[in-house]
Amino acid sequence: MCPVCASVTRREVRIAHRKLWVCLECNYVYLNDIDHQAVNPNWHSDSGDYYLSDLYDWREAVMNWRPRVAELSTVVPRFPSVRALDYGAGAGFLVKALRDAGSEAEGVEISPKCIEFAQNKLEVPVRSLVEFQRSYEHGELTARFDLCTSYHVLEHLDAPRQLRDQMHGILRPGGIWSIEIPNILSYESVRMRDGWSGLSLGIHRGFMTAKTFEYFLREKFRIMSIAYSVADEFYDGYFPYLRQLTDDQTVIAEFARGLTGTVVVVTAQKLPA
Ligand SMILES: [Zn+2]
Repeated sequence: MCPVCASVTRREVRIAHRKLWVCLECNYVYLNDIDHQAVNPNWHSDSGDYYLSDLYDWREAVMNWRPRVAELSTVVPRFPSVRALDYGAGAGFLVKALRDAGSEAEGVEISPKCIEFAQNKLEVPVRSLVEFQRSYEHGELTARFDLCTSYHVLEHLDAPRQLRDQMHGILRPGGIWSIEIPNILSYESVRMRDGWSGLSLGIHRGFMTAKTFEYFLREKFRIMSIAYSVADEFYDGYFPYLRQLTDDQTVIAEFARGLTGTVVVVTAQKLPA
């Protein structure tokens, strides 16, 4: 049964020597061996160690979030006078960027190393998933946040609807949920196939498409926008040549839009109760 829309009509496909299901109703693409044996026990490990080393400039990492924070500031009512939660906060870079912009932001994270880094180095509040669950179950987080972000989280979950219901519960009516995931229906994915960097099968359990999001969010959220990144190939190879042929930004933008890259960003608004 599809973990997003509960449909039983599906087709099997093979990608990178793994078997996946494609839901014929909502187009969710997910591993068909979702059982305990198949779960990579390391999927929730400290995969972000690189970011925690002294070699990595965390100030730059925080700065890299600024364009996203600027985008969010245009869709979240009353920003920056808002409470924000970054679910899957990693080392806390986005939480720091949101706080630097003046909002009251906190994070939730599963990796103890990342939590420690966020708290000690960045001095931002990031709590453990266990702690978050406890507060959630006690009703302490109900309608608490104006903005929730979950970037590169959904693709790791076997039961994404649980997270959706939690996000719905902790957002205020009219609050914003900003989601980013790898886009399996992108030009980059289709071109690279097994070698696509967003694939990581095993660690990644399922891929939502634009159609999946309609099913996933309906009745609880309104989709405000779906935005696609542009493939690296555009910047690396095509852009300089294209610029020789035209300075028309509309033409260049239209061309770039076709070369969709690895990620898709969905902005959704919690419907009034
Ligand atoms: Zn489905």
